[in-house]
Amino acid sequence: MAIATINPATGEMLKTFEPLNDSEIASKLDLAGQAFVQYRRTSFSERSQWLQQAATILQQEKADFAKIMTLEMGKPLKAAIAEVEKCALVCNYYAEYAPSFLADVDVKTDASHSFVRYQPLGVILAVMPWNFPFWQVFRFAAPALMAGNVGLLKHASNVPQCALAIEDIIHRAGFPQGAFQTLLIGAAKVADLMADERVKAATLTGSEPAGASLAAAAGQQIKKTVLELGGSDPFIVLPSADLEVAVVTATTARMLNSGQSCIAAKRFIVAEAIADKFEKLLLNKFLALKVGDPMQPDTDLGPLATPDILQDLNQQVQTAVNSGGKVLTGGHPLSDRPGNFYPPTIITDIPPNSAIAQEEFFGPVALLFRVPDIDAAIKLANATPFGLGASAWTTNDQERDRLITEIDAGAVFINSMVKSDPRLPFGGIKRSGYGRELSIQGIHEFVNVKTVWVN
Ligand code: NAP
Repeated sequence: MAIATINPATGEMLKTFEPLNDSEIASKLDLAGQAFVQYRRTSFSERSQWLQQAATILQQEKADFAKIMTLEMGKPLKAAIAEVEKCALVCNYYAEYAPSFLADVDVKTDASHSFVRYQPLGVILAVMPWNFPFWQVFRFAAPALMAGNVGLLKHASNVPQCALAIEDIIHRAGFPQGAFQTLLIGAAKVADLMADERVKAATLTGSEPAGASLAAAAGQQIKKTVLELGGSDPFIVLPSADLEVAVVTATTARMLNSGQSCIAAKRFIVAEAIADKFEKLLLNKFLALKVGDPMQPDTDLGPLATPDILQDLNQQVQTAVNSGGKVLTGGHPLSDRPGNFYPPTIITDIPPNSAIAQEEFFGPVALLFRVPDIDAAIKLANATPFGLGASAWTTNDQERDRLITEIDAGAVFINSMVKSDPRLPFGGIKRSGYGRELSIQGIHEFVNVKTVWVN
């Protein structure tokens, strides 16, 4: 894939970038390796100050950064501004809490003194996706840099200007030269990077094939990885739920980022007793969404990020229809305009055991399933290869406890949509990946947990 900025709202190629050649990659690896030797000796208070300065830059220039995101991957501008603000939040969060998360932990044993010390691993490679082009990077970079690691970013090929802007922010914030660098390279170079002895570990957010490929390359080298992959999150609505609130939230949860979010609600599993009403209310909400120019403040749904994503999504919709699905609204790309626009779409009646019901729909398409009771709801919720998040709606305490315990996912949100929060761990099980980002668990992924015994 070419490294380029192509406006998804118009299809216009705006800028292309020459990928780094091998000797340029080698120089950046050298610089990263050298930077680590010094950077690991910096104090928490220095790192905190730099990270807080990064947060200040993000806040001060959020309108500019948001425009770059919208231009490159098409998310509505208001969502892009909120994303920059969340990046500032995660920087300030780790600036404040990392020192306590990484403080020595005394453990009573028969030694005179025994404790655990957390130390940085070195150069960490981050392979990142385009869908939250700032947030995904900062949620890696903030804890990694606070822990004393050095970062290398291989961002998605369609968001090069975001990748360069992030490198610039971290540099301007005061972090030493080489502490965080962007590599403009294609995916084919990632395995070589994993084989380089200066790179100690990697994190990847993206698709299953990309995750499997990175993990295989890392496995050859016995290097640690964290994988944040796809999801087909269920959104379960049981009869006792507040239906109005559930439907409003369902719409937001499916349409977030024009439907291109790993934790978007994708499968709506609704109790038969309330299914007709839910379906009608959801249809009304979807019909009211404004699809259009993502730069306009009142746009709810922008274009999909690339023509390939549009085509893949449309192919999945047609397969769903061929498998017995019924389209209530949408179902075809918007052909009356340039760009990668797909309308809000609802599909019902897909056989739950069909192959297509197992897939992730990465766009504004809601799949509606009806179930007789909570047993069937939980069974269907778990019937995918994924296990990222789940949202479930009930006011019954027993049902709530069963949903929390029996749903196989990295997160269960009751009467709320699934969302990431710096204070809580984020990640999946099954084919959604492994490891955690954010919170104390996230900062502990890329450290040497050193056992110390002193007599
Ligand atoms: P993708 O194609 O896997 O791309 C993600 C990143 O991986 C890009 O930087 C890409 O580089 C790189 N990449 C692609 N193939 C690779 C390979 N074989 N080896 C190493 N790197 C490779 O993902 P996408 O389709 O753009 O993103 C959507 C997917 O990401 C969805 O499944 C979504 O659910 C998932 N996602 C998960 C989370 C989470 O936190 N769990 C968050 C966001 C998105 P190029 O751009 O150069 O190909």
